Amino acid sequence: MDPVSCWIWPRAKDRDGYGKVWIGGFNRMAHRVMYSLVNGHLTPVVRHRCNVPGCCNPAHLLGGTQSDNVRDRQEAGRQAQGEHNGRAKLREADVRDIRRKIREKHKQVNLAREYGVHQTIISAIKHGKSWKHVEDLPLNPKPEGGAWSGRGGGREGRDDGDGVGT
Ligand SMILES: [Zn+2]
Repeated sequence: MDPVSCWIWPRAKDRDGYGKVWIGGFNRMAHRVMYSLVNGHLTPVVRHRCNVPGCCNPAHLLGGTQSDNVRDRQEAGRQAQGEHNGRAKLREADVRDIRRKIREKHKQVNLAREYGVHQTIISAIKHGKSWKHVEDLPLNPKPEGGAWSGRGGGREGRDDGDGVGT
């Protein structure tokens, strides 16, 4: 999928989360309007490759049929079930936040309440038992210790290999 992030429709959305836009006396779905503007035609169904209903990024939209749409929903449903097993409730960004707050001496009880998870999960994050795969992001992007100075500098392509000694 296009690595560009989703363009979330900033205005009205319907109850399924699709962007709404009022054109010519009708409420239309924003992503369908976008698709037709970009592609010059409209397919029976415009699908979201990113599964984000409110997204209008044309790179994430895919024309299709009703049966494509049904299949998409089934796949999305399966994924959603996978995320329901406990600790997937947190997003990676949350985990980083929680770790930071633990370092800042926030109480685990409060963090548990704030993120809507059980305190054992906070504790597991603290002790590195859960979410080990989430790496902390560096607060300030800085050159990896010391190696920086040696990179890029030095011999500027000078060819001192052959040694034309006379
Ligand atoms: Zn998207």
